[in-house]
Amino acid sequence: MRYAEIIVDLSAEAVDRVFTYSVPDEMAADVGWQVAVPFGNRTLEGFIIALKDEPGIPSDKVKPVLNAVRDYPVILPELISLAKWMHERYLCNLVDALRLMIPSQMRGDRVHERTVRMAHLRMTEAEVEAFIAGNARAKAQCALVKALLKGDLECPALPKAPLKALVDKGLVEIVREEVRRTPASLRVAADSADPELMPDQRRALDTLLGAMDAGGRFLLHGVTGSGKTEVYIRVIREALARGRSAIVLVPEIALTPQMVSWFHARFGGDAAVLHSGLSAGERYDEWRRIRTGEARVVIGARSAVFAPLEDIGVIVVDEEHESTYQSDRRPRYDAREVAWRRAEAHKAVLILGSATPSLSTYMRAMPGVRPENRLHLLEMRGRVRGRPLPPVELVDMRVEFQRGNQTIFSAKLREALARTLSEGRQAILFLNRRGYATFVSCRACGKVVKCSQCDVSMTYHRDTDRLVCHYCGREMAPPKTCPECGSRYIKYFGAGTQKVEEEVRRLFPDARTVRMDVDTTQGKDAHEALLARFRSGECNVLIGTQMIAKGHDFPHVTLVGVIAADMTLNLPDYRASERTFQLITQVAGRAGRADEPGRVIVQTYDPDHYSIQLSAKQDYRAFYGMESAYRRKALYPPFTVIARIVYSSRDPMACRNAAEQAEQELNGFLDTHDQRPDVIQMRALEAPIKLLRGLTRWQVFLKMYFKGDTETVTKEMQALAERAPEGVRAELEVNPTNLF
Ligand code: ADP
Ligand code: ZN
Ligand code: ZN
Repeated sequence: MRYAEIIVDLSAEAVDRVFTYSVPDEMAADVGWQVAVPFGNRTLEGFIIALKDEPGIPSDKVKPVLNAVRDYPVILPELISLAKWMHERYLCNLVDALRLMIPSQMRGDRVHERTVRMAHLRMTEAEVEAFIAGNARAKAQCALVKALLKGDLECPALPKAPLKALVDKGLVEIVREEVRRTPASLRVAADSADPELMPDQRRALDTLLGAMDAGGRFLLHGVTGSGKTEVYIRVIREALARGRSAIVLVPEIALTPQMVSWFHARFGGDAAVLHSGLSAGERYDEWRRIRTGEARVVIGARSAVFAPLEDIGVIVVDEEHESTYQSDRRPRYDAREVAWRRAEAHKAVLILGSATPSLSTYMRAMPGVRPENRLHLLEMRGRVRGRPLPPVELVDMRVEFQRGNQTIFSAKLREALARTLSEGRQAILFLNRRGYATFVSCRACGKVVKCSQCDVSMTYHRDTDRLVCHYCGREMAPPKTCPECGSRYIKYFGAGTQKVEEEVRRLFPDARTVRMDVDTTQGKDAHEALLARFRSGECNVLIGTQMIAKGHDFPHVTLVGVIAADMTLNLPDYRASERTFQLITQVAGRAGRADEPGRVIVQTYDPDHYSIQLSAKQDYRAFYGMESAYRRKALYPPFTVIARIVYSSRDPMACRNAAEQAEQELNGFLDTHDQRPDVIQMRALEAPIKLLRGLTRWQVFLKMYFKGDTETVTKEMQALAERAPEGVRAELEVNPTNLF
């Protein structure tokens, strides 16, 4: 008798452990199989994570596995160990980690292979001739037999009666064959020649190829337009030639249709995509193609890091500085860390690529880092074909205002836009805020209209003439009079992308604008459609939020305008400078990518700030120096660890009590442990957004030095969160991307 250690597919702390079941003798079973098991008085699905010969518990208590849901390892052994590591590292239930490894519809048996019935001939050519000679009167059967001699045919397309006759005689058999549902982005022809590499690309590639056998970790720091993608493609090609496979992570697949088509053009059917925009069937089929080894290059967003590939040779994380690599729900994993871990397990080459690496990544590429944490730095300082980086001009909007210009465009940007349009070229205008006016307030008493369910101001949307809460989506009609004092002087302040679009149309009636923000990209494939309108030249001004700052390559863009560079600078977040630097550098990098030189105009109220100055110079090194000095001094990550438990509840008092109770308990814990000296700050307080979707929010906020055993503290905080009282939700966040 064999026994299976099983994780049941039920997410609750109480069942987050291994259960032992017996495997009936007549049943085949293996590690990684998805099976059905009796659990209490129900039947549940579960995953076999180990097999053993002894039950380890009294065998009369052991129940048998009922049946296999899928009789092959849906989770490979390497991914089972990865899930165990995630369970420790991200303090999540093991089953929550395992669930990330398969398309969600595979659970609860909601998706299957699509199969067609095929007619297969069971005769040799000689037998067919004999059959035709002997059955001349059965014309239809003879014709069918002849047709099948050339290959199997789909049953629904064949004449029924003769088919049945042949099947009855045992001359034809019906077999089921699996067919694939192919995602739209992969339905393009594959052909594309290799460009000759630039010297920088060559050097980077040679180093990467040299690490193919032993594996290695690299930061590919290349300026915008230096041709990082081509380097990825060549390394992956070599991995495939050696019979290995590859993963390419991109921040958001909808924003990178170009990347997918480039990869498909170069790798054809070897490429697969995995992302949430696919239909359930497409997703499952892509997953199957990967699992069976038909597709060996996987492109996808964050969760594609779990692709069921064997023998991975390369893992690429493109635009590694993007916050989308960190999951904002449980399990709160960081795809870059997971990629690191998998690369190690496979002795693969890990490449983190960016023009603006995150501070913590870059730090690991500096001298003095311990070898096990070390990234090898590869630099590409110039654009391909010796194209220059576009010059960036700063415009001080305070001076504009003094000169009497109260519009959102400086004279300089307006003139540059006029010239660009009259020359028949394209422009990008960037403003990291959607809507029309960013808040609405009363001139008489100063009241700002806020969402009734959230502690945030409402944004005015011109197209629908509504006020919208950007946190919960609640809408209302704009008030005609002040709800506080009755005054009729209601004013709209601050500009969003809708206002920029309106201004462009007013100033340049001939401009053909396309706006890209959360409001215009709701439908399936909406991103792709908008990007295509700009790429084809149908539109000549692209206006948008950070969505347009990512790695797009538009050859005809010669002007980039940043409407308000300090918008992200004023956010209450210790990473505000870093984000601002990244956004401006990235969006500036969209200009002048082909033969026509580009120009970038950045409008700001804070032209002396180092992140604006240095992004204008596109000087990453200098920025890194300033920013890391600031973080070290101000005790922010990556020099410290920030952890917080966020409490939320309908009941404000219960919420506050829970947080204060946890603060006391955590104090008690720290007092009895030697981590105490490493903790810089710990207290319970209201969250910066104290009301969200009608829930009151409190937090227990903790900051400690990044040394020693910080995990003991975060584990204790996780335990505290799990003990939160009824009616209060509690969630632990460690170095979260958002602190609101
Ligand atoms: P990055 O991601 O570094 O900003 P891309 O990978 O988007 O840059 O490349 C920029 C452009 O240069 C793309 O249009 C790409 O096809 C082109 N390119 C890349 N390498 C070469 C090369 N060796 N020769 C010619 N064009 C190249
Ligand atoms: Zn008022
Ligand atoms: Zn709201």
